[in-house]
Amino acid sequence: MRFGFHASIREGYLGAAETALAHGASAFQYFPKNPRSLTVKAFDQRSAEACRRFCEEHGLISIAHTPYPTNLCTEEPELRAVTIASVLNDLAITDACGSVGVVVHFGQYKGRETDPLYGYQLMIKTLNEILEQWQGQSLILLENNAGQGNRMGTTLEELVQIHKLIKHPQKVGFCLDTCHAFASGIWNGNNWPDVMTKARELGYLEHLRAIHLNDSMYPTQSYRDRHAQIGRGEIGEKAFREMLFSLEIRDRDLPLVLETPATAAYGHPEEIRYLKELTEELVAQ
Ligand SMILES: [Zn+2]
Repeated sequence: MRFGFHASIREGYLGAAETALAHGASAFQYFPKNPRSLTVKAFDQRSAEACRRFCEEHGLISIAHTPYPTNLCTEEPELRAVTIASVLNDLAITDACGSVGVVVHFGQYKGRETDPLYGYQLMIKTLNEILEQWQGQSLILLENNAGQGNRMGTTLEELVQIHKLIKHPQKVGFCLDTCHAFASGIWNGNNWPDVMTKARELGYLEHLRAIHLNDSMYPTQSYRDRHAQIGRGEIGEKAFREMLFSLEIRDRDLPLVLETPATAAYGHPEEIRYLKELTEELVAQ
């Protein structure tokens, strides 16, 4: 199975890929630019190209994550323009790096409008403006929310509905965050088969391109987004085993990327080793 972790670009895009490979990963995630800013980055094309070639040579798959302030439901015109330019910049970087796509959280409307549909309309409008201008291969990967702040974007139904309503759905896939799914209550640790049945019936599964593999520090339906190391949180090893062994996940070659807190004693290389041991039987089959 294709396990990986979020790698730093301190040493450039190629550096992130090299770190991932050196630590036993076959997938990784990176920030295309400063994660705290939406400022467009004039990136180093050669470093990105070198990353792409390295990944091809070593069979690595990568995804990226938009900066934290990215919100597809931003209403204020100036900030909306900045957000659109920033996501297009992220797409250009990930395309040059040969990544599957860039993960964008489902938008969260925080304005004064009381019509519950308003936030979704804003999000569709923003996505359409981005996708109309984007001609590359790299996808936008919409991620399910944990429900912190408000409950917008926590369900598979919302993700699929947005996908149906945008103008260029072929340019958008999904990234499922397991901690968010658990925190929001759609996966309670005991109903993985039901989650997958629903995902197939809704048409979510066919567009699933990446997994954020995270345990949760808080219980299901806590709506709190705090990641824990796999098997050491409220989701636990048994539930992860069921998830990883399900046909919908094991047969897909999806990047399974950790966004878990690494400690000195137990870092991402150790966590990947643990995951490989947990799924050892699958490799043997
Ligand atoms: Zn995530």
